[in-house]
Amino acid sequence: MTDGYGDCIERVASINRSRDRQPLAFVRTFGCQMNAHDSEKLEETLLRMGYGKAPSEDCADLALINTCCVRENAENRVFGNLGKLKELKGKKPDMLVAVCGCMMQEDAAVERIKKSYRHVDVVFGTFNLDRFPELLLSRMESGRQIIDIWKGPREDRGIPSGSLATARHFAHKASLSVMFGCDNHCSYCIVPYVRGAERSRPPEGIMEEARALADSGAKEVMLLGQNVNSYGKGLNLSFAELLERVCEIGGIERIRFMTSHPKDLGDDLIQVMKAQPKIARHLHLPVQSGSSRILSLMNRRYTKESYLNLVEKIKSSMPDIALTTDFIVGFPGETEEDFADTLDLAERCRFQGAFTFLYSKRTGTPAAKMPNQVDPEVAGERFKRLLACVNGIQEEANARTVGKVLKVLVEEPNAKNPELMTGRGHGNELVHFKADKSLAGQFVDVRITESKIFYLMGEALT
Ligand code: SF4
Repeated sequence: MTDGYGDCIERVASINRSRDRQPLAFVRTFGCQMNAHDSEKLEETLLRMGYGKAPSEDCADLALINTCCVRENAENRVFGNLGKLKELKGKKPDMLVAVCGCMMQEDAAVERIKKSYRHVDVVFGTFNLDRFPELLLSRMESGRQIIDIWKGPREDRGIPSGSLATARHFAHKASLSVMFGCDNHCSYCIVPYVRGAERSRPPEGIMEEARALADSGAKEVMLLGQNVNSYGKGLNLSFAELLERVCEIGGIERIRFMTSHPKDLGDDLIQVMKAQPKIARHLHLPVQSGSSRILSLMNRRYTKESYLNLVEKIKSSMPDIALTTDFIVGFPGETEEDFADTLDLAERCRFQGAFTFLYSKRTGTPAAKMPNQVDPEVAGERFKRLLACVNGIQEEANARTVGKVLKVLVEEPNAKNPELMTGRGHGNELVHFKADKSLAGQFVDVRITESKIFYLMGEALT
């Protein structure tokens, strides 16, 4: 954190206290869990600066958009959102609009904002979240558009943004970043360009934060990193060892982690997962394609066969593991034969859940320049076939849980039926069941009575 972090928070809070009512802020987040966690930090910063929470942009005095650039669709939605905010700001000229996140690390996006979105007041990137109070104060004092983008981490400037306090959506579960950035350079991915090279946080800071989370009531902790299982380079500590240390913390009853890269998943991690009952029996292991040829073009550094062997090893060590994955359909050069390999891999791995994405061309990545970009119609048709395949497998997997008792961490009332509570099982199963609201934050045994493709229904036993 820069020295001015606390000072600037207090100065913005003082301006906000002098208003005739408490100003409200709304944060909209696009993208992955890392971005969602960054938004929790920004929400806490906003609370400290005296803002209340607005239920939507419409009633906000400050709107902050945390952007994602992994797919073109997410970028288009950000610009659509900024267009709506322009109209809103036309009616409420004192409203402030800030934009941050991965997209802001792309020069073209920032240039577009400078040129066509002059109503945006503050722009910052992924490396300087801790400067948000300073940038907002500058905007308030100068009335100018403030843009502050760094092209990489500056660890010598004090405590990095990773240690900022967070506003949690749930008291009983929390995310904890253990590493930042990625060195893998998968040929389709823009993350290494916008989140920088891989940096692991020293274990002392992670343990301190984990203990503080437990003290504040977090029973479930999600350890986060773009490539979490390669944690520890240069620290003489592996991710498996870090997990064991976090398991020792009293109060934390369930530990999850994401995202794991198949090439970095070693026997030590499988053994620790098997031995530690606190570690959730869920592994998200993105495969992306079932064709070894396409995996090589993607620079994933594993083959179809090595992935299948890894899955076999994991399932024989932990037969009750819930495996989930990501697929990209329509990568440049993908033939019908390559796609058949993807379907074959999906059938053989029997994933409990899969996120399927159409390949999205990202300027600046090697894949964007590859020949044989797949016709969107062909890719769309393959996408539908894969979706039908993985949904069918997920439906079957869910049907097998009927009659079983799952240990569910109760989260919140069901959005559609307030008589129901919603929670997650050890394998990340989404479960709805009749229960009192007071059970939020408790572990409850739930017998599964009915299964659907994406969720389960059950009855609480305790
Ligand atoms: S592992 Fe590959 S896909 Fe994942 S963040 Fe790193 S470069 Fe992107």
